[in-house]
Amino acid sequence: MARIVMKFGGTSMAGSERIRRVAGIVKRQQEAGHEVAVVVSAMAGETDRLVNFCREANALYDPAEYDVVVASGEQVTSGLLALTLQSMGCKARSWLGWQVPIKTDDAHAKARIEDIDSDAVIASMAAGEIAVIPGFQGVSPDNRVTTLGRGGSDTSAVAVAAAVKADRCDIYTDVDGVYTTDPRIVAKARKLPLVTYEEMLELASVGSKVLQTRSVSLAMKENVRVQVLSSFIDENAPAADTIPGTLIVSDEELANSNLEGSDMERQLITGIAADKNEAKVTLTRIADRPGAVASIFAPLAEANINVDMIIQNVAKDKGETDVTFTVPQADLARAQALLEERKDAIGYYRMIAEGNVAKISVVGVGMRSHAGVAATMFKTLADRGINIIAISTSEIKVSVLIDTDETELAVRVLHTAYGLDAAA
Ligand code: ADP
Ligand code: ASP
Ligand code: MG
Repeated sequence: MARIVMKFGGTSMAGSERIRRVAGIVKRQQEAGHEVAVVVSAMAGETDRLVNFCREANALYDPAEYDVVVASGEQVTSGLLALTLQSMGCKARSWLGWQVPIKTDDAHAKARIEDIDSDAVIASMAAGEIAVIPGFQGVSPDNRVTTLGRGGSDTSAVAVAAAVKADRCDIYTDVDGVYTTDPRIVAKARKLPLVTYEEMLELASVGSKVLQTRSVSLAMKENVRVQVLSSFIDENAPAADTIPGTLIVSDEELANSNLEGSDMERQLITGIAADKNEAKVTLTRIADRPGAVASIFAPLAEANINVDMIIQNVAKDKGETDVTFTVPQADLARAQALLEERKDAIGYYRMIAEGNVAKISVVGVGMRSHAGVAATMFKTLADRGINIIAISTSEIKVSVLIDTDETELAVRVLHTAYGLDAAA
């Protein structure tokens, strides 16, 4: 017998028929003798709809009230799944964030989980009741509803798995695993049997939304065994968790594993991700003096605006230089306003902002021991006439900024160049 946390995403929960299929998958796990907790997302599109209502009600909405509204999508699906399980003869009940409780800080709309009191849920699971927990939501120190940021149900699932000391956290979604790149964009993408926590963390943080970045860092920290699987399976198919998906493993586990995908033949590059949610800002003719760059980035940091790529050109003849950097598109207007306000203090000549850029990243632990990954990337893009605007690297990742229109082409040609294409 094992204790399993199963998470089902928005597409899997979209409508009564799909919820019935999910209930069937859950029931089979319980019938196999496991203790089961389920974490669910709102129906696909529902959270977007609720966010829009908030915007319409008040453009400068109070994040605490926003949380009351957007957390409701998961309340609906958790109740519906419990009802459906009951209709199939299972013992099941819902546990809202405040009932578990899933305690978070008070950073509304992007709250962090601080602690989960899992005793009551564990007792109910041990008594044969399926615990259905809405993802994405928690409760703040002053008892208000909080949400964890978009895509947060993955993080809820991993946190619940850590709290109930689950043997496994199975993330069921609308694809049957983690692929070399988004299979909805590149038809030749290949499913990866194993991905390391670190690789998954980089892939998620540069745009592979199959798992929320925070869920991966939490799984890595708490050593939660995470598996990505498809919920779109036939009722007569073998049990869902016996159909291979993608297992997220540690470096050591990868080295010691004899599972397919762990061998010496493992590709140098594990995956490629694209992110169209960045914007580029250039400030021209900044004095090339100590403190100039700090005067740009300190106010952005204070305003909680994440700066990603930065390039500073070599100073030209008059001791002046241009600085280019990227920020999330959602923060561009705020960043522009802040920099405009400080134009004289920073001492730049012009600010040029552009939203139509995309970040393309290649990720793989193999990069640590092999040179030439970046060179291959630059040459492949150059051969297709794709211009690189900015570059950034980490130990296991190279990212470039390009024109948005060239995103799909860039991902496809890189996928081929690194030998990732599935056999035809
Ligand atoms: P859920 O609603 O189940 O949380 P998401 O839409 O958040 O599902 O995540 C699943 C989607 O992630 C897939 O439909 C796919 O388009 C996208 N995706 C992006 N990159 C990858 C990748 N490397 N492997 C698999 N899916 C990916
Ligand atoms: N429903 C939330 C969202 O759409 C959380 C999630 O699905 O993970 O962002
Ligand atoms: Mg998701």
